[in-house]
Amino acid sequence: MDITGGAQKVWDIGVKLRDSLRDAEHKTLIAELMNAVADVKMEAADLKQENLVLSEKLTDLQELKDIRKYLRIDRGTYRLDDENEAGIAGGIFCTYCMDTKKQLVRLSIVQGKNKEGNCRCPGCKNMFFARVDYSNS
Ligand SMILES: [Zn+2]
Repeated sequence: MDITGGAQKVWDIGVKLRDSLRDAEHKTLIAELMNAVADVKMEAADLKQENLVLSEKLTDLQELKDIRKYLRIDRGTYRLDDENEAGIAGGIFCTYCMDTKKQLVRLSIVQGKNKEGNCRCPGCKNMFFARVDYSNS
């Protein structure tokens, strides 16, 4: 039984006790007990939600850690080859966003139609002069 189920069981017992009692003082004590249990239930629900969010963040960080194994530095950018085991399309990525915000942000080509050109991170807006023909390294 999880904490929410346990709190619910205590609540249900409290209801039965309250309804079976005739003594006002005991009914008041039971009511206080039930209020405390209601607080525990709400706190448990909040903790479950927080746990869910943290679990998702942990999964994201683990995936990011796995991706970092396949990245390499190239002209101040991170580069991921087209054929990689990370399971994402190859390209060039922002070092600033990865190193500071733990985000893999693909750079956008903003200038140059040849094999070299300027790239910009759509996240942090940093500019990079990077080889954009990354499929032919
Ligand atoms: Zn960036």
